[in-house]
Amino acid sequence: MLGWLTETDADRLQPLWAEADRVRRERVGEAVHLRGLVEISNYCVRRCAYCGLRVERTALARYRMTADEVVGSARAAFKFGYGTVVLQAGEDPGWRAEEIADMVRRIKAETGLAVTLSLGEQTPAEWKLWRAAGADRYLLRFETSNRALYDLIHPAGPTGQLSDRIAMLRDLRALGYEIGSGVMIGIPGQTYADLAGDLETFRELDLDMIGVGPFIPHPDTPLGQAATEPVPGQPPADELMTFKMIALTRLVCPRANIPSTTALATLNLEQGRELGLQRGANIVMPNVTPLQYRALYEIYPDKACIREDGAQCNFCLRGRLAAIGRPVGRGPGSARPDPKLTA
Ligand code: SAM
Ligand code: SF4
Repeated sequence: MLGWLTETDADRLQPLWAEADRVRRERVGEAVHLRGLVEISNYCVRRCAYCGLRVERTALARYRMTADEVVGSARAAFKFGYGTVVLQAGEDPGWRAEEIADMVRRIKAETGLAVTLSLGEQTPAEWKLWRAAGADRYLLRFETSNRALYDLIHPAGPTGQLSDRIAMLRDLRALGYEIGSGVMIGIPGQTYADLAGDLETFRELDLDMIGVGPFIPHPDTPLGQAATEPVPGQPPADELMTFKMIALTRLVCPRANIPSTTALATLNLEQGRELGLQRGANIVMPNVTPLQYRALYEIYPDKACIREDGAQCNFCLRGRLAAIGRPVGRGPGSARPDPKLTA
């Protein structure tokens, strides 16, 4: 793994791309599944050192969608032919757990879509409630397997609770969720050995979904300010490094759903997403958040696709998939098609 992670020669990398593409085709097929992403709130009580939504960013105007807006966005995802809707937010105490459960029930009843939640570190009681309401999947990136670096960038929560996302992923699995996680690449202080450790951790957790994307510095965050000087021996937060991690993730976890991320498209709007799909990825997450909220979900600057609405993103992505000869997947696109887990 370290050999591939440190390789930069374009010719010598060709076999890695070819093998990742072959394994992707054999294990999850040609179809690209579309997951409609709804960024339901940008309030957050946490202080993750890398993220533009962190509570100390007082300059950011905050929003919280209404339940009707969220369900309306899920209906739009259904209308566009997506198989899954992903509800994502900061850790927002403005929602009561029962309100989230109600939205999940309404979305399931009205659209039948698979529902993924990505609402941060919550309690087992809340996760249980949402699972019972019909949520199928939970997305919680552990960001890095280097525990010291993890602790540095994930300060304790407002009630002093320590962060341990790897332990939480195991709890979520035990509750019957399909579990998704992932890491950022090129975090200040990260090493190549850490990235190899991330891949090992993906394998150990037997993840259903794995998102790997570049760390994009936000100037208004502690880690964004620390990222101005390149550190010798640190993996770069660039496209090539991301493609290598996508390809290796496919080889290590062949059946996983792997997105070609918006962060990748932010680095290379022309080709980033397409190249990710040709080097191991099989998922894209078109944004269906109402246009007026998109720019406010500012986890990092200059995010791709914040000036387009849902219909434009749908049209654009379908065109991009057609151009690389990849069909759009039908149905929920589960990595674990066990009726007991994906009902
Ligand atoms: N609050 C939830 C959580 O933390 O899981 C969901 C929202 S959070 C904004 C979603 C993801 O955004 C994080 O897991 C992280 O990987 C990504 N993210 C945040 N800041 C980033 C940055 N500066 N560069 C790249 N990705 C970032
Ligand atoms: Fe909040 Fe998630 Fe950002 Fe951490 S990564 S500050 S939990 S939105």
